[in-house]
Amino acid sequence: MPVWREVMIRRATASGRGNRRAARGAPSAQLGSPGRGSRARSSAHAASSPNTLDDFRRLAARCTACDLYKRATQTVFGEGKRRAPIMLVGEQPGHEEDLAGHPFGGPAGRMLDKALDQAGLDRSDLYLTNAVKHFKWKPAEGGKRRIHERPRQGEVNACHPWLQQELEVVRPHVVVCLGATAARAVVGHPVTITASRGRVLSSTAGHAAIVTVHPSAVLRAPDDAARRALMRRFVGDLRRAARAARPARDARR
Ligand code: SF4
Repeated sequence: MPVWREVMIRRATASGRGNRRAARGAPSAQLGSPGRGSRARSSAHAASSPNTLDDFRRLAARCTACDLYKRATQTVFGEGKRRAPIMLVGEQPGHEEDLAGHPFGGPAGRMLDKALDQAGLDRSDLYLTNAVKHFKWKPAEGGKRRIHERPRQGEVNACHPWLQQELEVVRPHVVVCLGATAARAVVGHPVTITASRGRVLSSTAGHAAIVTVHPSAVLRAPDDAARRALMRRFVGDLRRAARAARPARDARR
């Protein structure tokens, strides 16, 4: 049985919240009605129903809902504070993250750390994840290097239930979408960074969502002046997120 089908059936029967919600979270899962005997199954499954980030991390480690797991080293699930007031969502793990198994550990992650520092945010206070949990890559021409390849929308959709579970467990006050792929996964429709920057959008589950660039865009700037300008705006967006989340940060301390 596909891991997602297993997860959602176990959650639906254990929580008693019914299949409607489960089906929303797992578009490809074909869930039957709990029907007769569901109460008995409910109590039997309650103890083993996945509820924590560790549960979902373990389950995602054997996800095969799209083909990306076949060429990646491992699933790179989100990490950070369980009740973080701010969740940062990127596109997908890169080469280094794929090898290490942790999100935002490569060059873009180091750029993100610099920006967080300038924005007065501490990474240990946040939750960091990606819209897609496996590294999609192609071989560099004539070499052994693995080049990042943008995930297709079908792959982002296939991975969305994992992101949805992270949002449900962490319950962030603000979600910061790093780049257009993350923004689309979080708000549920295509958005352009230029048009949505500076506005507070809503995630599919009602969280406040702020859209900014992916830190790799800062790395790819053509020259120092462009890099400084991009970094300034990026830090400004992170500061805006910090301000929006301040009441939640204070309450959760
Ligand atoms: S990318 Fe996401 S949906 Fe696809 S196999 Fe990996 S964890 Fe599963």
